[in-house]
Amino acid sequence: MASEDAYTAEPFVPSRGGLPALRKAAADCRGCPLHRDATQTVFGTGNPHARVMLIGEQPGDQEDRQGEPFVGPAGKLLDRALEEAGLNPADAYVTNAVKHFKFTRADPHKRRIHKSPTRREATACAPWLAAELALVEPEIVVVLGATAGKALLGSSFRVTRVRGTVLEEEIHGRPERLVPTVHPSAVLRADDREAAYRGLVADLKVAAQALG
Ligand code: SF4
Repeated sequence: MASEDAYTAEPFVPSRGGLPALRKAAADCRGCPLHRDATQTVFGTGNPHARVMLIGEQPGDQEDRQGEPFVGPAGKLLDRALEEAGLNPADAYVTNAVKHFKFTRADPHKRRIHKSPTRREATACAPWLAAELALVEPEIVVVLGATAGKALLGSSFRVTRVRGTVLEEEIHGRPERLVPTVHPSAVLRADDREAAYRGLVADLKVAAQALG
């Protein structure tokens, strides 16, 4: 693995072979320490020619066990919200800013508790995301929550300020149109879950309209 000062997935990212090669290579990534405790790499999945790419934070407990992104409760809620916004989940490509599950737990028999990745870990994992964006070439990128937002748009990103708007930014050397919103797990944690869900759907409708 890279030295502590140089966490990066860069040497593990193949330059050819498309998404299948990326997914295969990511399974052996040792670009930062997060691979040590997680079950497996959880790479992006979905339509390789998707018009919409959704980017979350990192895999959750169930995603880590199953090896697929957004298969847990937050993923089910996201699918429902996408459909309600007029976007077909089956047509999208879904991935995370960080490809390994980061967690903590009080003792080995306790439930694994999600822990947010650090900026350094997100930066280390960014070459995978850059490669996915370059291959899928989505027309719209839906940014789910603060970690994904900071990974793509820098540390000054505040989801509450820009959610539900279409941003035009250069991301990893490519012009992208991005629509930020909250992470679906934040909806599940909200005191007023219905209002939070409505907000997520409203933001996703902005993405649907931006597709034309
Ligand atoms: S989190 Fe990303 S950079 Fe770190 S080991 Fe996993 S795939 Fe590699």
